[in-house]
Amino acid sequence: MRVGVPKEIKNHEYRVGLTPPSVVELVAQGHSVAVQTGAGLGIDFEDQDYIDAGATIMPDAASVFAASDMIVKVKEPQPSEIALLESRHLLFTYLHLAADKPQAEGLMKSGATCIAYETVTANDRSLPLLKPMSEVAGRMSIQVGAHYLEKEQGGRGVLLGGVPGVAPARVAILGGGVSGVNAAQMAVGMRADVTIYDISNARLAELDMFFSSQIKTAYASKAAIAAAVKNAHLVIGAVLVPGAAAPKLVTREMLKTMKRGSVLVDIAIDQGGCFETSHATTHEDPVFEVDGVIHYCVANMPGAVARTSTFALNNATLPFVLKLANLGAEGAMKADPHLANGLNVYKGKIAFKAVADDLDLPF
Ligand code: NAD
Repeated sequence: MRVGVPKEIKNHEYRVGLTPPSVVELVAQGHSVAVQTGAGLGIDFEDQDYIDAGATIMPDAASVFAASDMIVKVKEPQPSEIALLESRHLLFTYLHLAADKPQAEGLMKSGATCIAYETVTANDRSLPLLKPMSEVAGRMSIQVGAHYLEKEQGGRGVLLGGVPGVAPARVAILGGGVSGVNAAQMAVGMRADVTIYDISNARLAELDMFFSSQIKTAYASKAAIAAAVKNAHLVIGAVLVPGAAAPKLVTREMLKTMKRGSVLVDIAIDQGGCFETSHATTHEDPVFEVDGVIHYCVANMPGAVARTSTFALNNATLPFVLKLANLGAEGAMKADPHLANGLNVYKGKIAFKAVADDLDLPF
């Protein structure tokens, strides 16, 4: 198959659909890959790296789309990219259509087959192409939390790990799923005093086994969360109720009990956030303060570590890219029902029920 990788054009997006090592795998299996010039420059992949991997460099997005059957991207297509899509194209990328009717209508009009990373599933019902970004965001949350706890940043002036003779900072992690566990691993590594709160007793038991005495676990009752927030130096919001807005676990009233210079990192901000006082921020202006408590609520945390994120995403997407290239869209989806769950737009119609319902579009 002819595979195309355009340069991402969404503001401050430095990731790229395929790394040079992924190109090597595709070429080895008999496929051709066209890459737009400069597509990987934001994360230090030169055109020459892609040429060495076996790709052809194209001058612009229009020539990549014209020369390809499958387009592999990271972010949802922007209007100028949708205009280049034709019914013969297969698009494989994050789409997040449920909140974007103009994009959904544009993709329907194109007639292209559009498979969304975020709805591809795995045997354990998890979402394998979202998982790497939750891992990145979870690990990063501790790094940014530690940074904003510094006095210069308006923080309380507390070192996460303490030092001999001085107690470490208390870190409360709300939600012990993928991002919560990754946050805990980093916090434990920095020797912080870590407690994970979750409403799934089964999950709490797993975490207890996994971390042993390195962390504490607690059932996420309102009272437990209120007490945690009052005492914590750093609170990480890492909850998810699939398909729904994040529950507001930390209220404005609870915030008032926190020490000045404490830090909240709301990873769940992309689902509305789990602190009542959260609103989405950007990497250019990542934090704001309410009642002396620093809030970090960047909706696209992995973008800050675009190189790591691109490799992590490619590790997860490459097996599906290869399957699509080897078997074609229909063959690959027939062979793999989990990949078929990624189908969002097909033959001019929305092919994912929840998206059609949310947008009031024909299914
Ligand atoms: P996950 O499904 O792996 O884990 C969520 C956990 O929250 C589960 O263990 C669940 O039991 C728990 N939970 C649900 N309701 C709860 C409640 N009321 N109290 C306590 N725990 C509760 O989810 P994840 O992959 O870790 O993702 C978490 C959030 O982070 C999602 O909203 C995801 O979209 C978001 N995310 C954000 C970024 C970013 O850049 N900001 C990046 C990646 C993921």
